[in-house]
Amino acid sequence: MTAETPAATAIDRFVTQIGAQVAAYLDACVHCGQCAEACHFYEVSGDPRHTPAYKLVPLARAYRRHKAPFARLKRTLGLAPAELEEADLREWQDLIYDTCTMCGRCTMVCPMGIDIASLVGLQRRGFAAAGIGPEDLFEVAENSRIKGSPLGATPKVLAERIEWLSDEHEVEIPLDKAQADVLLTVSSIETMKYPQSIVAMARLLNHAGENWTLSSKGYEATNFGVLSGKSDVAKLMLTKIVEAAESVGAKLVVIPECGHAYGALRWTGATMMGRPLPFQVMHITEYLAKLKREGRLKLKPMAKSVTYHDPCQISRRGGATEEARFLLSDFAQDFREMAPTGNANWCCGGGGGVAAIASATELRRKVFEIKMQQVADTGAESMVSACANCRQTLDDGKAHYEWDREIDSLVEIIADHLVEA
Ligand code: SF4
Ligand code: SF4
Repeated sequence: MTAETPAATAIDRFVTQIGAQVAAYLDACVHCGQCAEACHFYEVSGDPRHTPAYKLVPLARAYRRHKAPFARLKRTLGLAPAELEEADLREWQDLIYDTCTMCGRCTMVCPMGIDIASLVGLQRRGFAAAGIGPEDLFEVAENSRIKGSPLGATPKVLAERIEWLSDEHEVEIPLDKAQADVLLTVSSIETMKYPQSIVAMARLLNHAGENWTLSSKGYEATNFGVLSGKSDVAKLMLTKIVEAAESVGAKLVVIPECGHAYGALRWTGATMMGRPLPFQVMHITEYLAKLKREGRLKLKPMAKSVTYHDPCQISRRGGATEEARFLLSDFAQDFREMAPTGNANWCCGGGGGVAAIASATELRRKVFEIKMQQVADTGAESMVSACANCRQTLDDGKAHYEWDREIDSLVEIIADHLVEA
């Protein structure tokens, strides 16, 4: 197939990505519809278009027409589905981007175990190759390519902010050490909006006595290449971190409070780089839990009642569900679980790049109503999370609804309760 039109480009990209596992997923769907009620977008809209399985129709159609068993014969006999047109892709754009946070909650209830989130990600790569997708999301991805950061946190901006934060908070934040055991990365949401998170991480790493550094060669953990479907940007951002870690000889790369950044490096880094990574990757909650287990994290108790919002990419899809609870245990004296919680917790509604898509705002805020109810049922004063993207989504919901609860960062509350030696 020669990819001469946007539709042909997308089909070509879909088909080349369909291997045995994707084919098995696409063949396995029994159209039972059980995934619908697991999806927060369906939950708040009741719109059948928001059924997770329906979001996969373009990919499934391309598969059945071009790659499934007997596809050629079926095409000849007129039994294959119709070829995808650009109009189809445009009709599905909001389902692929605005109304999927790639949270993976639907997979938990799917009797066939279909990983819908990863298939949506695969479709995004086809859409992005065809130039079809939300312009604002594509723009922040391009910012990453041009400026090294989606929100304009260039190396110069980072250095200036670090100097300011070090002075303001009297904390050492090493940048560009020649050798370090730990490379810390940051999310541009933290750099530009929640810089106190960087201070908190620095205080914790210093408290642990680590030989650590930030690197101006590779500091940006946020990966809008992954979220937008722009694979070249995704690889570029990962390459910077990998090369920075290698250049300082890091044995460990710590990912900050950013969910998809963790998944990008931890689960796809080696595949995207085409080689094993010569260092360990840990989310900051995993790293802090390790320090606590080793007796290297002494905390004063916190009396405030708190509940924990599980970031999808850190709990359900990241596996660090219990690490956050271990960190909160003993320390948070009035910890209250929301329901559902842990791996079954509801998404904040802004993951997967959705927070950066203006056309998704109204529905995203409807999703926040689920979270407000969950927190209200616990009666907790504060909702703690470990993802800056969740935090900005939750902060936006709080401001929109003039909600009366606090929203805290797990790393920041821990740093605020350190018992200094
Ligand atoms: S991954 Fe999450 S947002 Fe996407 S369809 Fe499934 S439940 Fe909905
Ligand atoms: S729950 Fe699984 S099998 Fe059922 S419709 Fe959804 S994706 Fe298909």
